Amino acid sequence: MTEKQIDTGRFDDLGIKKNFLEILKNKGFEKPTPIQHQVIPGALEGKDVVGIAQTGTGKTLAYGIPLIQLLSSQKGQGLILVPTRELAQQVADALKQIGGSLGLRIAVIIGGVSSRPQIKDLRNNPHIVIATPGRLDDLMEQRQYRLDKVSVLILDEADRMLDVGFLPQIKRIFKLAPANKQTMLFSATMPSSISSLASAFMKMPLRIEIAPQGTSAENVEQEVFVVSKPDKMRLLYSLLKTYREDTILIFSRTKHGAKRITRDINDAGHTVTEIHSNRTQGQRKASLEGFSRGRFRIMVATDIAARGIDVKQISLVINFDLPDNSEDYVHRIGRTGRAGRSGKAISFVTPSEKMDIRKIERLIRKTLPILDLPIIAREPVSNFVPDRGVPTSRQNFGGQRRRGQGQSQGQNQGRRRNFRRDRQYGRSQARGER
Ligand code: AMP
Repeated sequence: MTEKQIDTGRFDDLGIKKNFLEILKNKGFEKPTPIQHQVIPGALEGKDVVGIAQTGTGKTLAYGIPLIQLLSSQKGQGLILVPTRELAQQVADALKQIGGSLGLRIAVIIGGVSSRPQIKDLRNNPHIVIATPGRLDDLMEQRQYRLDKVSVLILDEADRMLDVGFLPQIKRIFKLAPANKQTMLFSATMPSSISSLASAFMKMPLRIEIAPQGTSAENVEQEVFVVSKPDKMRLLYSLLKTYREDTILIFSRTKHGAKRITRDINDAGHTVTEIHSNRTQGQRKASLEGFSRGRFRIMVATDIAARGIDVKQISLVINFDLPDNSEDYVHRIGRTGRAGRSGKAISFVTPSEKMDIRKIERLIRKTLPILDLPIIAREPVSNFVPDRGVPTSRQNFGGQRRRGQGQSQGQNQGRRRNFRRDRQYGRSQARGER
């Protein structure tokens, strides 16, 4: 957060009612974050808002506070669309925290679990519906939900909703919702697909940008290791030792990778859990709870499943694999350095991924420092794993035979030098130089 640079004043100056101010104070929210400072007054006046803000900036309450205040004094319903089940639950928890004592009723409508209790919640005339677009669309088809009461429509993490293919459902919802509703759209990035959506369906929205597009969390220190695929696991073991006091979120590109990493670091004696789409909703919830309460020090996640994770104590994010697109890098590192704390993000980059790092650097407008592989990362895997020998799967991690063992320091330095030189070359190419 950037409170250091911007004076975000007090909640008292934003048009929030007295009883609500008391609640915020009691819950420990003393000062608005920059996005809250800018969004709340306009939203309370009923204006449409486009907010470009990353996770961790306090955007949930930026729309949550005006939404709850508006619904407490006027008829209508709030509908919040989110990309994932986890984010739906997290938003519900954040809104209950401030609206619970006001008698706020919330229905959470998500896939992967029975729709029956959700239909019951919808019949109970909730003030706010928080939904993933897919399940909501299903329930609309089944005539279990109608949009005619919606007075405020909010799209949270809109870029991600489009990434996972929810554009048709979102357009349908926009078309069927009452024309005089208020709309707020929040997104970490603003690709043209989102700008078009905003101009097609919103009424002269206030545009509020908290950090330039793609700027990564300012309080997250970022580092890169160039490492061959077969050496990644050893590097990970050594980092888990180095950062033994930290709460760590590890990203894997695939769910199968996430499973393997979890199993292997569990074998190495760490407390670890996993969250990806192969797990049931119940398992995902249990993992997240166990991780946020400290039962597991480490959680391994895929991009989709990690969306919406708000565990304040995450102090280190490890990108075991780089994400498929650069925007996800920004989302991933936004899982640490939350609520004003500092955090660290370490990425493993294979020599063939150098152009991906360039893309990320362009997006975040920063050069990422490349570090020396720690000496320990060249030790055999078996040194990190108590009791058992090295299972075949670990030797063949990533489907390749491990070649890195016994590799000399010279080889590693050479690889890093080549990488830097290539990066330089990529940069000059981007400038049209040769
Ligand atoms: P969000 O960006 O909405 O996911 O929020 C990130 C974190 O910031 C959450 O843990 C919130 O509880 C916390 N937060 C939101 N608003 C404030 C505030 N005004 N002061 C302190 N923490 C806040």
